[in-house]
Amino acid sequence: MADAKSYVVLCRDCGSAGYVGAIAPPDDCLVCKSQNIRSHPELFDLTIAHIDCDAFYASVEKRDNPELIDKPVIVGGGDRGVVAAACYIARQYGVRSAMPAWQALKRCPHAVVIKPRMARYIKISQRIRDHMLSLTPLVQPLSIDEAFLDLSGTQKLHKCSPAEALMRLQKQIFDDIGITVSIGLGANKSLAKMASDRDKPNGFFVIGAAEAADWLAPQPVSVLFGIGKATVKKLDAAGYHSCADLVAAEKPRLEKVLGSQAGRIMALAQGIDPRPVTPERAAKSVSNETTFSRDLKSYEDLEAVLERLCNKLAKRLQAGQLTAATVTLKLKRADHRIVTRSCSLDTATDKAHLLFAIGQKLLLPETKKGLSYRLLGIGVDNLDNKNMISLFDHDGGIDDKRNRLEAAMHSLQGKLGDRIIQSGRQFSRNIAQDDSDTSD
Ligand SMILES: [Mg+2]
Repeated sequence: MADAKSYVVLCRDCGSAGYVGAIAPPDDCLVCKSQNIRSHPELFDLTIAHIDCDAFYASVEKRDNPELIDKPVIVGGGDRGVVAAACYIARQYGVRSAMPAWQALKRCPHAVVIKPRMARYIKISQRIRDHMLSLTPLVQPLSIDEAFLDLSGTQKLHKCSPAEALMRLQKQIFDDIGITVSIGLGANKSLAKMASDRDKPNGFFVIGAAEAADWLAPQPVSVLFGIGKATVKKLDAAGYHSCADLVAAEKPRLEKVLGSQAGRIMALAQGIDPRPVTPERAAKSVSNETTFSRDLKSYEDLEAVLERLCNKLAKRLQAGQLTAATVTLKLKRADHRIVTRSCSLDTATDKAHLLFAIGQKLLLPETKKGLSYRLLGIGVDNLDNKNMISLFDHDGGIDDKRNRLEAAMHSLQGKLGDRIIQSGRQFSRNIAQDDSDTSD
């Protein structure tokens, strides 16, 4: 007869947690008999989590309008716009994020298409973030709907393991806000990020240190957190497709492809990731872009789109308490070639009118070339925490007046919707309002 072993078990329904002696992993909860349990040898030891909202924009729309609950919902749209988010019902028809809207509607013609309401999503995102911060100050937002948390040292405060605290948090977010999130608990950030994607929606998935290397071996290199698309392409071209390929690589050969990053990426492929959860730096860059329903050529038309995107971008920076020191304009020509132009600022900012002024300077020369454009984007990087510049924020000059005007506009839009108040430029050129924006 097989020997009994001790299994770590956590019930997602009644919340009971503990060790169970059995000859095989238990199928159900000893207390409530629910089969919705998680059992993992490292369950009570792991402290790093990645929390990702499920189909965030679409979930907020369903939350705000219960009539949509059992309908396929797509957030995004416009003739040539793309899907910004698709609910899980729409996904059953093959609709995916970033898919052109016409293609999404071909797959799911009865989908309800809703224009994004960024101000609303930012507000809900902040409420979710507040819930996260009630568990630990070590919250590192990655984007509007996802964040890393480090719960080490919180056991005494919460009187339970991080796993139990996170499961409770998941329930609280659903009860208070009506949004489901998926939780990945891992031995480090890269593993936690992968884990949150494995059990969606409303998921809870664990990847421990002991199993990491085996678990990663068959996965494509693209699953590793922090490996960009360009690096994946380079690796693929050099014959490194899976994490196992990276682990087995000869380091000098890999260095020819990755340079000084080779060692770090080899370690990641083995499940080793020493990067800490750093609450100060929310994201390295933030951008908004829009694909037009017809190509645009004139400076005035493009400028109107630019202004609207700068407003959105500024709201996201303000929501994340961030300021940016570099602004990048992106244009996609009618022949799909991409042009980018950047400018660095003397003082970091989160103000739309300043981002817009820089954007205008970058845009003007491009519109003198007589070309048509199908996409315009504005992005910022070199982000920093806001507290650093607040001293320079109120100088009583012209900028201060514009800042206050902008704050008043954003506050109205937050309450009543983005269209409640517009600049004269937006009003006279409503051209851009029908396009769908995507953010990164
Ligand atoms: Mg998400």
